[in-house]
Amino acid sequence: MQAYRIVEWGRPAEFVDVPVPLPGAGEVLVRMKGAGLCRSDLDMIDAAPASQPYAAVLPAGFTLGHENAGVVEMVGAGVTDLAEGDGVVVHHMHSCGHCEFCHEGHEQSCRTFARGAIGMTRGVGIDGGLAPFMIVPRRELVALGALDPVMVSPLTDAGVTSYRAVKSVLGRLRPGSNAVVIGLGGLGAYAVQFLKLLSPATVYALDRSEARLADGRRYGADHVLLSDNRAAETIMDLSGGRGADAIIDLVGTDATLALAATVSRPHGRIVLVGLEGGSLRAGWGSLATTCEFAVSLGSTRADLREVCELAAGGKLIIDLERFAFADVEAAYAKLRAGLLTGRAVITFN
Ligand SMILES: [Zn+2]
Ligand SMILES: [Zn+2]
Repeated sequence: MQAYRIVEWGRPAEFVDVPVPLPGAGEVLVRMKGAGLCRSDLDMIDAAPASQPYAAVLPAGFTLGHENAGVVEMVGAGVTDLAEGDGVVVHHMHSCGHCEFCHEGHEQSCRTFARGAIGMTRGVGIDGGLAPFMIVPRRELVALGALDPVMVSPLTDAGVTSYRAVKSVLGRLRPGSNAVVIGLGGLGAYAVQFLKLLSPATVYALDRSEARLADGRRYGADHVLLSDNRAAETIMDLSGGRGADAIIDLVGTDATLALAATVSRPHGRIVLVGLEGGSLRAGWGSLATTCEFAVSLGSTRADLREVCELAAGGKLIIDLERFAFADVEAAYAKLRAGLLTGRAVITFN
């Protein structure tokens, strides 16, 4: 089969002919239906040899694609609860199941597959879904029932990563509370929707693009604002001086983190997901007293199951643009140019 692979760091990804893998004990061979493309794929494709956070810690020679869903093609020994043709979605984080964090249900922090700041997983150091078939341990699959695998593939990273961040602030959001989402890209679209579905908070959505602000309204944001140097003041004005009980920063520059700190409220929480590499100044006077700050990585299998439940209930707007597998490079080019109108999803015949 043809697989789209990182063959060597510092060289563009390419199609390579590889054998169809066979499932071992406890594993499932998945026939791919939908593979979402992510900006972090471009970071890997562009990574210079030995650069952080990917090339320095992951050996090259793997198939890209970490937002995967499909149907069961074949099960390995010991897998008794799935059968050929069952729809499945793949949790995007690989976990060992027996380290301290896996035991506690924090498998996104699994120590066995941690490689620096990131975890080794399918599409990131291990063969992913940009090929007609992929191998996944049974425990990292969620059965889909009647849900369309193509529609759920973007939920496996963009959806669940923002779901995890939103879940971590829900306890703070009560009637009268305010939540701020910075960045309305692939993740922000879901963060706004989850906040509106799961909390009574007034939601402020910020972006630098007017077009994305219109999307923010469509996803249910109560207020949409340009993310400029007046945004903090506007949030304080609109909220009657209350500020924000929760801020989810899906961008992560010095400027967005400074904005988060400015609007933070005592007992609030700032969650950083965005990978732009900025930092937050924390200390007396720069952050509201008792406000918490967390860097949020990935999600758990339970998160994926819950997000699929929301999708199954018809509660989520899932914007996607479909591309045939042969057109994967055109899809990445469109992603790189910022021309997509939804998550790019590769479909397979
Ligand atoms: Zn991703
Ligand atoms: Zn583990």
